[in-house]
Amino acid sequence: MHHRDTPQPNLRVVEGVHECPTCGLFQRVPSLEPGLTAACPRCGGKLERRRRTSAILAPLGFCVASLALYWALLLSPLLVLDVHGRRNAVNLISGPIELIHQGFGEIGILVGFTTVVMPGVVLALMLAILGGSFRAQVPLWIRPCMAWYERLRPWSMVEVYVIGLIVAYTKLVDMAVVTLEPGAFLLGGLMLMMAVMDSTFDASIIWRHQSVDKRHGLGLYPSDVHPLPHPEKMLSCHACHLVFVAEDAVAAEHDMGDCPRCGQILRRRKRNSFSATIAFLIASLSCYVPANLFPVMSLTKLGHSGPHTIIGGVIELWQSKLYFLSLLVLFASITVPVLKIVSLNVMLYYQRHPRRWILPWLSKLYRIVVFIGRWSMIDVFMISILVAVVRFPFFARVMAETGVIFFAAVVILTIFAADLYDPREMWDAAGLNDDHASSFSRDEKVEPLSGSDEMEPKRA
Ligand SMILES: [Zn+2]
Ligand SMILES: [Zn+2]
Repeated sequence: MHHRDTPQPNLRVVEGVHECPTCGLFQRVPSLEPGLTAACPRCGGKLERRRRTSAILAPLGFCVASLALYWALLLSPLLVLDVHGRRNAVNLISGPIELIHQGFGEIGILVGFTTVVMPGVVLALMLAILGGSFRAQVPLWIRPCMAWYERLRPWSMVEVYVIGLIVAYTKLVDMAVVTLEPGAFLLGGLMLMMAVMDSTFDASIIWRHQSVDKRHGLGLYPSDVHPLPHPEKMLSCHACHLVFVAEDAVAAEHDMGDCPRCGQILRRRKRNSFSATIAFLIASLSCYVPANLFPVMSLTKLGHSGPHTIIGGVIELWQSKLYFLSLLVLFASITVPVLKIVSLNVMLYYQRHPRRWILPWLSKLYRIVVFIGRWSMIDVFMISILVAVVRFPFFARVMAETGVIFFAAVVILTIFAADLYDPREMWDAAGLNDDHASSFSRDEKVEPLSGSDEMEPKRA
C-alpha cells in the first residue's frame, strides 16, 4: 500500500526458518504435513501450523455463510422483553446507541466497534483474501489484507458477545417474560461459522504463494549453510513471519523499513516495550479499584433503585443457582484482569532479574494472558444489552453507571499492555538469545509436533 521506507538493501530472506514469537529462538522448520503443528522446543510457542485441508474453497464457503448471517443479524432482534404487555426488543445496534444516549459514548463506541464494525471488517478482509487468491495472478493487495486480518481478528468479539447475551438473558428471566428472537440464533450461528472459517483457513498457504518481489532487490540466504547466522543479525516480520538476515548485528528496536512481503514495519524487538508495558499497567491498576468499587449499572424497579457492582453480579448469579455462569463471570471479570496485571508484572520483574528455569513457564503464561484478555468484555456486553432492553419508564429501567467506564478501561488497557510487551526480551535478558548460550537447539531440526487438540498427527 504505502512505500514510506524501502527495506534496507543489505537484508536477505532466509527461507525455511521461523522465529519463535514468545522466546525469539530462530530455528529451521521442515515442511509440514497437513494437520501438523511445529512447536518451539524451548518454550512450546507455535511456529507453524498446516491445516488439514489446503483448499481455499472451504474457508471461502464459511466466509460467505458468515457474511450472510452477519447481514441477517444486523436486521434481526436478539431478544424481546415483555412486561405486562409492553414489549421491548433489542438488536446488535441498540445497545451501543442506548449507551451513547445515556452519556456513555466511549463505551457505546467500544461495544459497537467490537461487535458490529469489526466482525464486518474482518469478514470483508477474509472475503478479499480468499477471493483474490483464486486469481491466476494473485494480486499484491492481498498482503496488507493478510497483515490487517491478523491484527484486527482479536477485536471481533462475536463469541464473547454470545456469553454476554446468555448472562443478560438469565438476568432478565427473573425480571419478566423474555423470549429469544431469531437474532440470538443467527448470532450463535455466526460464532460457529467464523470459528470454522478460521480453523479451515491456512494462512501459510497464502504466504507461500507470495514470493518476495524481485523489485525489492532482496537476495536469498542459502538454505544449506550451517549454522544459522548470529541471532542479532536476524529478524522476522511480526505480521507475516518472514525471516531476514542483515550484514551486521541490528539494534533491537531499529526501524529496518517495511516488510517487502506484507508492508508492516520491520523491527527485531517491539519498540519501548518495557516502559510502555509499565505505563499501561499503572494506568490499568489505577482503574482497577474504582472498576470494582463503583456500580457498573443500576436497576430501577417500581421506584426503587439498586446499584450493581461487578462482584454483586457474580453473587446474584450464584444465588440464582447459576453456578457455572457465576464462576465464568467471576473468572472473566475479576480473575482475568488480576491475572493479567500480576503476570505482566512478574514478567517485567524477571526481565530485570533473569532466572532461566522460569522462562518456559512465563512464555506459556504470556500466551495465556494474550488469549484470555478479550473474555473480560462479557460484563460490558451484558450491560449494553440490559440498558437497551430494560427501558420501561415508571416500571423498570437499567442505567449504565460510572464503574463501567473504569471496568472497560481495565480490560482495554491490559489488552494493550500485553500487546506492547515483548516476551522475547526476558530470554534476551537471561542471555539465551546470544549465539553461544542458546546454541544447544539452534540448528537442530524441529520435529513436527501434534499441536492443539483439533490436530491429529495421524497419517492416512
Ligand atoms: Zn520459543
Ligand atoms: Zn511481513
